[in-house]
Amino acid sequence: MTDDTMVLDGNAAAGALGSLFAFDVTMAIVRCGNCNASGPLAELRFFGSPQAMVLRCRHCDEVNIRLLETGRTINLDLSGAARIEIGRAT
Ligand SMILES: [Zn+2]
Repeated sequence: MTDDTMVLDGNAAAGALGSLFAFDVTMAIVRCGNCNASGPLAELRFFGSPQAMVLRCRHCDEVNIRLLETGRTINLDLSGAARIEIGRAT
């Protein structure tokens, strides 16, 4: 590392990541981590409630996304999805 290299923390990513997460989530393309099927998030199978949900692949039934909302936090587990593709607004 040279003296002219500035190391920042995650706050420096707020602008880019903020714009990335401002989208219609139902249109995001989710690739299943188990069977590699891809499709809009809206086509996943929903179980649970808006505060505690599991979204499963409609092809193989593997859990792709978990979300748990507590009073103070939202816990999002995307480990069942191999990839999530977000289209940019035009
Ligand atoms: Zn699958």
